[in-house]
Amino acid sequence: MARIVMKFGGTSMAGIERIRNVAMRVKREAEAGNQVAVVVSAMAGETDRLVNFCREASSLYDPREYDVVVSSGEQITAGLLAIALQSIGVKARSWLGWQLPIRTSDGHASARIADIDTVALDASLAAGEVAVIPGFQGLAAGERVTTLGRGGSDTSAVAMAAAMKADRCDIYTDVDGVYTTDPRIVPRARKLKRVTYEEMLELASVGAKVLQTRSVGLAMKEKVRVQVLSSFVDADGASEPGTLIVGEEEIDDMERQLITGVAYDKNEAKITLTAVPDRPGAVASIFTPLAEANINVDMIVQNIAHSTGSTDVTFTAPQAELARVLDVFEKQREAIGFEQLLHDTRVSKVSVVGVGMRSHAGVAATMFKTLGDRGINVQAITTSEIKVSVLIHEDETELAVRVLHTAYGLDVEDTAA
Ligand code: ADP
Ligand code: ASP
Ligand code: MG
Repeated sequence: MARIVMKFGGTSMAGIERIRNVAMRVKREAEAGNQVAVVVSAMAGETDRLVNFCREASSLYDPREYDVVVSSGEQITAGLLAIALQSIGVKARSWLGWQLPIRTSDGHASARIADIDTVALDASLAAGEVAVIPGFQGLAAGERVTTLGRGGSDTSAVAMAAAMKADRCDIYTDVDGVYTTDPRIVPRARKLKRVTYEEMLELASVGAKVLQTRSVGLAMKEKVRVQVLSSFVDADGASEPGTLIVGEEEIDDMERQLITGVAYDKNEAKITLTAVPDRPGAVASIFTPLAEANINVDMIVQNIAHSTGSTDVTFTAPQAELARVLDVFEKQREAIGFEQLLHDTRVSKVSVVGVGMRSHAGVAATMFKTLGDRGINVQAITTSEIKVSVLIHEDETELAVRVLHTAYGLDVEDTAA
């Protein structure tokens, strides 16, 4: 007998027919003698709908009330799945975040899980009940409902698996694994049998939304065995293998590629301050107020100083934070002493990721040459030990991802066109 966590994303939960299909899958695992906790997302599109209601109600909504609203989508699917399970003879009940409880920080709209009480849950599982747990939600001090940031049900599932000491955490989604890039934009993307925690973490953080970044960090820390697989294929037979997230030591040399994947992110904005005084402390005067406002900055470029003794500073931040960034700078105009404040949301960050980069030179050069040959202009660059990212025009995203995918030899062999 194993203890398993099964997580189903929004597309898998979108409507009663699909929920019935999920219930059948869960039933098979339960009837095989496993103790099963299921973590569910809201129906596809539901969380967007709820977020929009909040925005319509007030542009400056209270994040504590936002969490009350947006967490409700998962409450519905959890109840519906429990009903669907009961209707096919499986003992099941739902456990809302506050009922377990799943304790979190009070960072509303992007809270972190601190602790999960499993006493009642353990008793229920031991009695042969399937536990259905809404993802994305938790409870902060003061008994306020929280949510874990968009895509947070993945993190709920991994945290549940760690707390329950589950043998596996299976993440069922609308693709059958982690691919070398988003298979929806590159049909020649290849499914990875295995990917390291570190690479998955980097891929997720630069836009591969198949797993929420935090869920991968948590899985790595807690050594949770995560598998990504499809809830759509193979509904009644043995499960098609998906992608396993593993430690680096589990990948053998034969499997190792220079580049593991290509990802893109269209949610960044580029901000430029022109004619900033070129003197010590100038960049600190720009980035300190942003840090104080809790705004995460990603890429930074400081252009060559002009003969006038001033310089242009360009950086990127999440598009959702743009209004706050501009507000911070308008208030700091005097203190920083810049001339113009420019911004552009028609940008996209494209990244290549792979642990092979550590020991091979020329990865960045290949990237720049490949993009240059296609006339794609690079506006900013950042690197880490296992990643190179470039900022380009948004309209060139798909082309850039495709040509890079080919340039690093990632295309599936049998459909070479
Ligand atoms: P869920 O609702 O199940 O959480 P998501 O929409 O959050 O599903 O994540 C699955 C989506 O991630 C896929 O439909 C796919 O378009 C996208 N995706 C982006 N990059 C990748 C990748 N490298 N491999 C697989 N899927 C990816
Ligand atoms: N429903 C939430 C979202 O759309 C959480 C999730 O699906 O992971 O962001
Ligand atoms: Mg998701």
